[in-house]
Amino acid sequence: MPQPQMPAMTNWRFEADFEGIGWLTIDTPNAPVNTLSRLAINELGAALQRVEDLVASGELIGLVIQSGKDSGFIAGADVSEFDSMSDPAVLPEALKRTHTAMDRIEKMKAPVIAAIHGFCLGGGLELALACHYRIAVNDDKTRVGFPEVNLGIFPGFGGTGRSIRQAGPVPAMQAMLTGRMIKAGAARGMGLVDKLVRHRDMLHWEARKAVLQKRKSTPAPLIERIMAWGPIRSRIVEKMRAETSRKARQEHYPAPHALIDLFERHGDNWRTMVDAEAGSFVPLMASDTARNLRRVFFLSESLKKQGLRGKEKPEFKRVHVIGAGVMGGDIAAWCAYRGMAVTLQDLDMARIQPALDRAKSLFKKRLKGRTEVASALARLEADPAGNGIARADVIIEAVVENLEIKQKIFTDVEAKAKPDAIIASNTSSIELERIASALKDPSRLIGLHFFNPVASLPLVEVIRSGFNVERDVAMGASFALAIGKSPVLVKSAPGFLVNRVLMPYMLGAVERVERGESPELLDAAAVAFGMPMGPIELMDTVGLDVGQSVAHELKHTVPEGSRFARLVRDKKLGRKTGEGFYKWVDGKAQKGETPAHADLSGLGRELVKPLIDTTELVVSEGIVASPDLADIGVILGTGFAPFLGGPMNARKEGKA
Ligand code: NAD
Repeated sequence: MPQPQMPAMTNWRFEADFEGIGWLTIDTPNAPVNTLSRLAINELGAALQRVEDLVASGELIGLVIQSGKDSGFIAGADVSEFDSMSDPAVLPEALKRTHTAMDRIEKMKAPVIAAIHGFCLGGGLELALACHYRIAVNDDKTRVGFPEVNLGIFPGFGGTGRSIRQAGPVPAMQAMLTGRMIKAGAARGMGLVDKLVRHRDMLHWEARKAVLQKRKSTPAPLIERIMAWGPIRSRIVEKMRAETSRKARQEHYPAPHALIDLFERHGDNWRTMVDAEAGSFVPLMASDTARNLRRVFFLSESLKKQGLRGKEKPEFKRVHVIGAGVMGGDIAAWCAYRGMAVTLQDLDMARIQPALDRAKSLFKKRLKGRTEVASALARLEADPAGNGIARADVIIEAVVENLEIKQKIFTDVEAKAKPDAIIASNTSSIELERIASALKDPSRLIGLHFFNPVASLPLVEVIRSGFNVERDVAMGASFALAIGKSPVLVKSAPGFLVNRVLMPYMLGAVERVERGESPELLDAAAVAFGMPMGPIELMDTVGLDVGQSVAHELKHTVPEGSRFARLVRDKKLGRKTGEGFYKWVDGKAQKGETPAHADLSGLGRELVKPLIDTTELVVSEGIVASPDLADIGVILGTGFAPFLGGPMNARKEGKA
């Protein structure tokens, strides 16, 4: 059939069907996901103008906005444009154009339906919220949410007011303040989505029906909306401020606080909230925090581009883990959770069982239904005899930290493993070359250094020994990516990257405690600087015995008779034994009063200095390839103040 004339577009395709329904499909060129770049928004604006005419002339009876990519609907605005957009001379105009496009959708005199599958995030969700009705596929891939706070901003395409209109003030503000990803069912429950379908191929039919029936989403019910009224709003604002301040200090992360201010002023009127959005949004976008969080975002993304690619990309189906203790057990569980068939070996079944029990809790917590949990459990097999070695694509050793035992294990592994299997050790402190020297081909061994707890810490240091070539570590990085972790390549050297930089920071604080300074004060100072946890609490969390052994390995001395040495002697090892520098109850350090201090963050800067000095050293020694890699490694491995963009960046900018 003859198609109506449309303006030229590179991001969108338009097609009208025989019933008069227009299908506007976003398909960002040369990209795996759709983003709303400035060009995409401009093209959308022009297309909508044309659609308005077609509706007015009766040629179209409705419009469906959908995605042409398997990966999902729209992942958000195009972050690569944010640096140039943050210019206050450019941004207001661009935002105005975007708001005009969103308003055009909303005011369209025919139904506009969003048909959503996969990711529908940030600007993508804002666009969907401007549509009259939203349909989403109810599968595990669909996720809606506002991740903007992670980039130091909040929704700026009208999403603040529109999400409040649809979901009500409390759920909408929570979604925007936390940036959490929301599954399809929950999004439907909140009112962000109106209708669910089971499969992607049902979207088209359902969207067509929605147009024909002129469906329109209903705003949040009164019971939700009254939360934004007068005195109730003040109470809610107070609670939100307290909760947000606990997680993100205003001076470090201004965006969530600015959003609460906006809500305080306009929370009872979605339209004025949308109109006032830009006033707070523009300065946030240009802030140092936002710039540095973008840096962290791009550095994390760059880690995903490591490893072997294209035809060379390896497939990992079977993993064998030796050692079912704290680390090995959890590594095995994680690999099974990520879909691999895993065999787990230890000296006997009694030592494997606790790891299987822990795995079951992980699966139950993370997986949806009973069937998924049962399949994950079936993928994880106890293997005391080590039969899995011969079939495995990856073999990870995580037994006790003892050179002879590890060497013996690898001699056996090398004899049985497939010729192309990855052979890796999770050692924290033994020089990889010394373990590798027991192999006939020492280049086969790499390090895969996971962090405890494995399920929540994303970093894996991929360790390259003097025997390895590029491809060996690239295989290791590919594996880390295949299990959803972030690999950072590090040369084999005591402490690698993370332990090496953490130790002088933690021991520096321990020494100050020894000299009589208050642990509470030191911890508060580090947090005021921007660390997620103070150094003394961290030492207690890691375990004083572990801390002491890493200290020894890095040739730091723990003076005999010091409080640290005495605590270790008395088996007061921190959180795990209920007492270390602090007493611990229900996993929480029992802290006393924090003494007053005139310049808490200045003290924090002093405490963090050894960490930054050591990061510089690690870079200058070539242990990590670049300052950028060191920054992202230290952020992922230690939680170092993301708003500063990493230790090297903080120093460069004179902030630490
Ligand atoms: P762990 O003591 O909890 O577990 C070690 C396990 O190895 C035990 O279950 C033990 O029975 C088993 N084992 C010993 N000899 C064995 C053999 N010959 N064959 C099979 N299994 C054997 O220790 P962990 O904390 O899990 O540490 C394991 C490795 O991971 C060490 O190399 C350690 O340096 C490293 N690591 C530990 C952490 C941490 O925070 N605990 C972090 C990163 C790396």
